[in-house]
Amino acid sequence: MTSNALKKPYFVDELVVYMETPEKALVAEIDCRVELITTPSSCTCCTYRFNSRRTPGYRCRHINAVRKVIEGQGKEE
Ligand SMILES: [Zn+2]
Repeated sequence: MTSNALKKPYFVDELVVYMETPEKALVAEIDCRVELITTPSSCTCCTYRFNSRRTPGYRCRHINAVRKVIEGQGKEE
């Protein structure tokens, strides 16, 4: 990931991803104020917390969105 991807909002589908550090992002729904803290391998959403207990390596859509931004596939605002 390039350093200029940091500290800018990126749209991935219906999510906004804001990379705080190369390893940690704030993720929010476009129409919602709830902010999640997401890394390439974990997330604070309840979907992740529930599924990761049963499925090691589970990726919620927030994790997938963060990975897309890290891979340079996010759309700049
Ligand atoms: Zn999540």
